[in-house]
Parts: sequence; structure tokens; C-alpha cells
Amino acid sequence: MKNIISDLWFEKRNIVSEGFDDSLRYISKLLPMSIIEIPTGTECWSWTVPPKWSLKEGWIRRGNKVYLDYADHPLHIMAYSEPVKKKVRKEELLSHIDTYSHRPSAIPFGYSYYEKKWGFCIQNNKLADFREDSYEICIDSKFSPGRLKIGELVLPGKLKDEIVLIAHLCHPCMANDNLSGVAVLIATFLELAKSDSHKYTYRLLLVPETIGSIAYLSRNEHLIKNMKYGIVIDCVGHNDILSLQHSKQADTELDYCASYVLKNEALMFREGAINKVCVSDEVVFNGPGVNIPTISLSRFKFWDEGAWPYPEYHSSDDTPDIIVQENLSKTKEVILKILEIMDSNFVPKRTFKGPLFLSKYGLWVDWRKNRKLNSALNDVMFSLEGNKSALEIAKELDISYTELYAWLNKLERLNLIKK
Ligand SMILES: [Zn+2]
Repeated sequence: MKNIISDLWFEKRNIVSEGFDDSLRYISKLLPMSIIEIPTGTECWSWTVPPKWSLKEGWIRRGNKVYLDYADHPLHIMAYSEPVKKKVRKEELLSHIDTYSHRPSAIPFGYSYYEKKWGFCIQNNKLADFREDSYEICIDSKFSPGRLKIGELVLPGKLKDEIVLIAHLCHPCMANDNLSGVAVLIATFLELAKSDSHKYTYRLLLVPETIGSIAYLSRNEHLIKNMKYGIVIDCVGHNDILSLQHSKQADTELDYCASYVLKNEALMFREGAINKVCVSDEVVFNGPGVNIPTISLSRFKFWDEGAWPYPEYHSSDDTPDIIVQENLSKTKEVILKILEIMDSNFVPKRTFKGPLFLSKYGLWVDWRKNRKLNSALNDVMFSLEGNKSALEIAKELDISYTELYAWLNKLERLNLIKK
């Protein structure tokens, strides 16, 4: 996973751009994806796919002195900046500069996809260099017709019902945001593709953030009815604990399952309501008229509580150096575990009366081997009325789903419960 990140991180992945297309092409060599193309200018619900953006050069100079050069770092020019070439007064220039006072040596990631603007992004500690009254500036950018691209892979399951997994692949020259999510989902799908016995159909979507999901869903409305759940993976490689953001409904099987897995894996994690942790593609999937219960997994601190998501967020410091391989692997394990439980979970309904004669059927659990399950068995037997899933029972009684599932399977083989 780290290789994908180091190979791709410095690509200029703006939403419709050469860099985005190159990154998708690279990934399609790892995964048998289809690439969906949607022409720029296409109306998608209330949005319009923006044009392709490219940039030849960008600088701030005065005589021979160069104050800023795009060639030094692509983040120096605001993404989707309008072209401009002129002499400006210092005052005007400063009003077009984005800078981070909280991280003075980093170049901010500035963008203006839908509002026509021009702008430069500069390290805060370089602002003091601008002592003159006027400067020559140039942003040689071009807007042209093109195609927004989306990587898609479907692994059909026994049911048409789908769980959609989404990561955004845009953001120029950054590693954690969101190549970490992309790399984790590539590894997850390589793993999922090894088995064809799963219940749900899994759909992977690698999109330019927000507009990619809107473009995809608005042009494939017929697919929405089968999309039962969504999981967005966003910024999961840096050194922090996982954050689970619940779906709009908040009480779905997927919400329940994700918080169970995180608790059960004895991981430290944060948990927050929709729109409280971060805002990414889950806003589209949970959105009005779409309504696909979609959770997100990230390692963000909560934006809603005024926190900056992580120190290097949206800056030139978001490099492969901040990626922790173990955090990528752990995220993949958590996703696989969530999918495994979603796949196997069922509602057991008893066919027996009275307490079960456990030892007669070989169902007694030796308390010396598993004291927790042993003490929970009477409560389990009281919960087999066909109104609770195995996962709900495991969560309520604070026992392992895997152990309970194995025990219930024995009951099913003995015709003591029905699924
Ligand atoms: Zn971002």
C-alpha cells in the first residue's frame, strides 16, 4: 500500500486533469477496473462537471528576483486558478494569497473549483519577503473540455444488494489525503476478489471528491435502489486513531456493525454523527433523494469541534513520510471485518421450547475455556425470538460475534433455530 502512495503522491490530481487520469491508469494495472468517463459541462442534478484544468507556469517576480515559482512546488498555484499575467500592487497580491499561520513553513492547498478566481499559496514564513510595492505575476492556466473519470470495480455477490466503498482520488501532491484511502481500498478489493462466495455485491468507486460521486449517481440513478450501504474511506494513513462517522440514519446494521468491530478489536477510536467528523463523498451518498446509509472511516479529529483534521492536512507537509504502514493495514482489517460480519449476520429464530438441554446436543460451553460465552448462554437463549440479529445479541451481551456465530451455526445444523 505504501508503494502506491509513494508512486502517485506527487501527481497533480486536480478533479479533471492529466494527473488524475495518469493515477487512474496506474491503478487500473493493479485492479481490473473500468474507467467511466463523463464529459465536462454535463449537468448532474444541481451541479455541472467543471472543465479540465492545466497549468504551464506560475510565478511572482520583480526584476530578476523570483518570489514564488510553480516549478518549485505545484501547490504554489491555487487549483483551478484563472489565468492572469500582469503587474500588481502589493495590496492586491496579498488579497490573492493563501497562507497558514498555524503551520508557517507549509504551503497550503488552495482551490477554487466553481468560483472563478486566481491565487497563490505561500508559506507563512515567506510573507515577510514581500517588501516591495509592486510585482509581476503570471498564472498560465487553461480551462478546456475534457472528461471527468471514475474508477469502478464490481464484485458480484449472491444478492444484488450492494455495499459501495468509496475513496476520492483527487488532491494534487498529497499522500494521506487521499491516496491512503485509495491504497487501502485497492488492497481490500484484492483480498475480496479472492472469494466469490459473499452475500453482498461490492462496488468500488474511486472518484474526484464530491462531484465524482454526484456525477456517478446522477447518471446511474437506476443503481441506487440496490445500494444498501456505503463506506467512505478518507485519510487513514497518518498517526492517529480511527474516527467512525455514522450514517444519516445512524442506527442501521452497518452503523451497528462498524462500532461493534472497532470496539471489539479493542481499538481506541472516536465516533461521531453525520457531518460532525468530516465532509466528503458520504454527503452525496447520504444526501437528499439518495439516502444510502453511508458511514465514513477516517483518522480525522472532529472538524465540528473546531479541530484541524491532522497537523499536515491540506498542505505540502502531507507527504509519504507521515504515512504509517500499520495504520493502513489496520484500516484494511477493520473494513474486511465489517464486511465479513455484514455478510454473515442473520436473525435467528428458535424452534425449541424451554431452556435447551445443552450437553445433550454438545452445545454446552466449558466455563474453564470460555467463561464469558458460558455465562451468556441463558441470555442468548432468551434472545432467539426472531427479532434480533446475531450481531445485536453479541453487542448487547458483550460477547464475541465470531464465537456466538459459530455456536448459533451448531444450533442451526441441529434444527434448533431457523435463519
Ligand atoms: Zn481533502
